[in-house]
Amino acid sequence: MNDNYQHKGLRKKLVNQIRKKGIKSEKVLNAINEVPRHLFMDSSFVHFSYADQAFPIGAGQTISQPYTVAFQTELLDLKSQEKVLEVGTGSGYQAAVLIEMGVRVFTIERHRELFLKSQTTLNSLGYKPEFFYGDGYKGLPGYAPFDKILVTAGATEVPDDLLCQLKVGGILVVPLGERNSQKMIKIVKEDDEKYTRTEHGYFVFVPLLKGKAG
Ligand code: SAH
Repeated sequence: MNDNYQHKGLRKKLVNQIRKKGIKSEKVLNAINEVPRHLFMDSSFVHFSYADQAFPIGAGQTISQPYTVAFQTELLDLKSQEKVLEVGTGSGYQAAVLIEMGVRVFTIERHRELFLKSQTTLNSLGYKPEFFYGDGYKGLPGYAPFDKILVTAGATEVPDDLLCQLKVGGILVVPLGERNSQKMIKIVKEDDEKYTRTEHGYFVFVPLLKGKAG
C-alpha cells in the first residue's frame, strides 16, 4: 500500500478538522499532515483512516482518534531533541507523530503482537524509535530520566515510577479515570517533591493494564 494524492488530500481535510476543534500548534498539525495514518491500520479500515475516530488495531486495542493524538502531543510542549517516553505503542501512529515533532522516542507496549507489528510498520516508513516489550507502568528505569512522558492508555492512578523517571521541569500527560471516561491530566515536575497538576477535559482510552500480555 502506498501514500497517494488521495490519502494526502484526505489528510489535509483531517488537519483542517482538528484545527477547527481547537489544536493551535502548527508544528503538531504539520506532524499529523506528514504521517500516513492509513498505513498504521488494517487494510479493511483504510476508508476510515482519515475520519477523526479511533479504530481497532488487533489484540482488543485501538489506534487513538487523531484529535486525541494531536491534543496529547500539544500538551507535551515538545522541544527539538527531547527524550520522550510513550507508554502504549499500539499501532505506532502516535510514536510516528512524536518523531515528526523532532524528538527522540522510547516506546513500550505490553502486547507482544502489537510490539512486533508496530516495529514492522514504523521501520518500513523510516521511523526509528527505541522499542520495548514490557509493562509501561514501571517505565524504563534504565533509560530515565525523560523530558516528557506520554501515557496513551487510561490509568486509574498516576504511576509513581513514571513521576520518578521525569526530569525536573518535565511533563507527564496521562488520561486518568475509570473505564468509560478519563480526565486528561498534565503534571509538571517543578522539583523532586513538587508537582503541578492541571486538567484538560474528558477522553476515552483503552485501559492501562499491569504486567505483560504475552
Ligand atoms: N499510542 C497508540 C494507542 C494505542 S492504545 C497508537 O498510536 O496506536 C493503548 C495501548 O497501550 C494498547 O496497545 C495497550 O496494549 C497498551 N498498554 C496498556 N497497558 C500497558 C502497559 N502497562 N504497558 C505498556 N503498554 C500498555
